[in-house]
Amino acid sequence: MAGIYIHIPFCRKKCHYCNFYTVISHKYRNQFISKLLQEIESRHHYLNNQTVNTIYFGGGTPSILEPSEINALINKIKSHFTVIENAEITLEANPDDLSIDYLKKLKNETPINRFSVGIQSFFDDDLTYLNRSHHSKQARLAIENAIYLGYNNMTIDLIYGIPTLTNEKWMKNLDIFFEYGLPHLSSYALTVEPKTNLEVLINKKKIASTEEDQIVRHFEILIEEIDKQGYIHYEISNFAKEGYYSKHNSIYWLGGHYLGLGPSAHSFNGLTRQWNVKNMKQYCEAKSTDTMMLEKEILSVDQQYNEYIMTSLRTTWGCDTEHIMNVFGMEFQIGFEEGIIPFIQQNKVRKTGNNYQLTGAGKLFADGIAGALFRGC
Ligand code: SF4
Repeated sequence: MAGIYIHIPFCRKKCHYCNFYTVISHKYRNQFISKLLQEIESRHHYLNNQTVNTIYFGGGTPSILEPSEINALINKIKSHFTVIENAEITLEANPDDLSIDYLKKLKNETPINRFSVGIQSFFDDDLTYLNRSHHSKQARLAIENAIYLGYNNMTIDLIYGIPTLTNEKWMKNLDIFFEYGLPHLSSYALTVEPKTNLEVLINKKKIASTEEDQIVRHFEILIEEIDKQGYIHYEISNFAKEGYYSKHNSIYWLGGHYLGLGPSAHSFNGLTRQWNVKNMKQYCEAKSTDTMMLEKEILSVDQQYNEYIMTSLRTTWGCDTEHIMNVFGMEFQIGFEEGIIPFIQQNKVRKTGNNYQLTGAGKLFADGIAGALFRGC
């Protein structure tokens, strides 16, 4: 089981908090699509003939693409990889793109069967704080248009911890999500990443800074409310009704293999991890796919183990010591079992048989707990 990720870096404007590789200019648009088609063809060995279960258009803003461009990319993938019938094919979309006309074209011309819509908030002052390109009416309309056209496999992103987002507004955002009956939610704390506009503006005191207490309270509200509505908290930032887990992201979390295409995209095939140049010009002007690639590393056993701890601990499936024993050996298993004891005593981790999962309290400390268990750092 493997996945293919395609990074479409175009955006209309840069959101203040965003640290993804994006470009505003469309100067390289046509060259970029040709280059992607070329990259699909030349990297077809990377997944070692594994069946492809998921295709994910992420960004950036993939909904900037014409349905014909999306279809050309999917067809190219299908002609060079074995893609299962009914593969999950996700398009990340900005609400301002999801007009009825665009959705109808997607439905008629492409096999896209899942949307991930960057709503972030249903309130205009939050969207202004984040510097999003859409407004709250477009957020609702996008969801309603997609539902109207029968797209019921849809997830939205909501951000909490925005200084303009009170507890009441956060509850309202969640209520709106529940009212639409959507099967999946991804929800993240607003994080001030280095070198983002958000960091600059906060440092210059031009906008309010995030507050840790507010982030924690919003996370508590989120897990309380989502549980009441019967969603499964299957990854630290992801919630779904039974049968609607993101198959693509589950590949990342369960250590599966994936090929990343486009500038800045990462790939992993169990033994190597590689990533493409974070530069549209260099990507489009590369003479071969080897020069598109920025770096390739062969993962050490410690790195493979750390990756397993980091990803598995964030999920409902948890960390399995039998897996650690079988894949990494006894020394790793003993190290894990010793390292996890303090977190069990602090009620941050629960043990069931061979399996270790974060408790509700532990979910707030996922990165710190994983870090404490890492080897070779
Ligand atoms: S739309 Fe998404 S990728 Fe583009 S700038 Fe905003 S957060 Fe970043």
